[in-house]
Amino acid sequence: MHDGERYGEWRGGFARMSEGVLIDAPIRLNEHELQAHWFAGDFGRNFLTRDGVRVQIVQFGTWNHEAGPDFAEASVSFDGAPPVKGCIELDTDWRDWERHGHATNEDYESVILHLFTQRGTLDFFTRTLQHRNVPQVLLDVTALTHRAPEFLPEAKLGRCVGPLRALPEEKVREILLGSAHFRLQRKAASLALLTELHGSDEALYQGLAAALGYKSNKLAFTLISQRLPLRLALRAKAETDALLFGLSGFLNAADLGEYDATARIYLRRLWEQWWPRRAQYERLTIGPGIWKMSGQRPANHPQRRLGALAQIIRHWPKMRALKEECDPAAVRRFFHELRDEYWDHHFTLTSKAGNARMALVGESRLTEILANVLFPLAVSANPERWSDYQKLPAALSNRRVEIAATRLFGESVRRHELLRSVAMQQGLLQIYEDFCMQDSSDCQRCRFPEQLARW
Ligand code: SF4
Repeated sequence: MHDGERYGEWRGGFARMSEGVLIDAPIRLNEHELQAHWFAGDFGRNFLTRDGVRVQIVQFGTWNHEAGPDFAEASVSFDGAPPVKGCIELDTDWRDWERHGHATNEDYESVILHLFTQRGTLDFFTRTLQHRNVPQVLLDVTALTHRAPEFLPEAKLGRCVGPLRALPEEKVREILLGSAHFRLQRKAASLALLTELHGSDEALYQGLAAALGYKSNKLAFTLISQRLPLRLALRAKAETDALLFGLSGFLNAADLGEYDATARIYLRRLWEQWWPRRAQYERLTIGPGIWKMSGQRPANHPQRRLGALAQIIRHWPKMRALKEECDPAAVRRFFHELRDEYWDHHFTLTSKAGNARMALVGESRLTEILANVLFPLAVSANPERWSDYQKLPAALSNRRVEIAATRLFGESVRRHELLRSVAMQQGLLQIYEDFCMQDSSDCQRCRFPEQLARW
């Protein structure tokens, strides 16, 4: 008898253990409780789809707290075939797929499995925007024997948690710094290519635009910086912001009457400057389908970020000098002092003005700009700047870093000690992208744990 069985007997068997916490029938769980049960593995990992296909959940993936399907980076095997990676959506009622507009939302194109706990009497197919038929699984809530866990980690612990814990801290630091250095050099190489193709100013401008768009609107910002190159943006002088907003497709004719006074004045100026140039840029305007507005903090709204880009262009000689110097303190000062009469107090082009002044570029964006644009450019010009990069403190962590840290380190004290610098966080992200995101075997075929021994 193993320890678990002995413990079960000692506390009176499983039936007793469930007493008082069994869910009353009929079982009505809200979506969050269902998701918690699902992620905890309470429904099991083997199912049959509605049309009889065997389904095995190889990886439960990670929670998605942003717009889009409930779970990302899952891995599912159908009828014993090699696992497929994608997202999983869990609804209480299967009709929620249509009711919530998932069928016409391209974010749901990546869904490989649709779970639900209730079905109607009529037949229903889960179809995506591209008319793909998503396999459906009806979950049996009556099989649940206990309440949903109140705390669940963001992601499951990986197989490498043990081997990493067994390594001395210095070794783990070495590995993270090694992957951070690799990541920095890769970014430096791609910015060097942009410099070769378009010149150093345009490369810096495109890098900054991509960093402001990160992550949901990186493509949109990159397109804008390509379609309105810096030399044209600089030539537009006081009309730069009108060109940026016009090209972004944000200046559609609307009734100004519904907005507050400051928004009306600002919008009228943008329109008046954009309208005469509209025909010239019409073909290059970004369509609304490219923008992702949901799931963003109001202060990070892409329109505010576009306002920040306009101000960076306005202060271009200073920005260029900051790039040459790459002094984190001076970069911080510049971005803290960056102001815009309108965007200091507005979330969007049409929102009401707030009293408190908001930073145009927040702390986490500033760190991204240093880590992903200014330092890669500095290291590409002078490899010795790597040692300065290692000293950059990480003011904040982000969700992706948290997920990667949970997978590799669990909740160990070491995790928090290790991730205090930008370099260590970037190193962790590189490992996550190279190994975790490539893996669809729930860590079983991942080479990282074995490679640790060879470092
Ligand atoms: S996929 Fe590899 S690196 Fe990622 S958690 Fe699993 S064992 Fe670790």
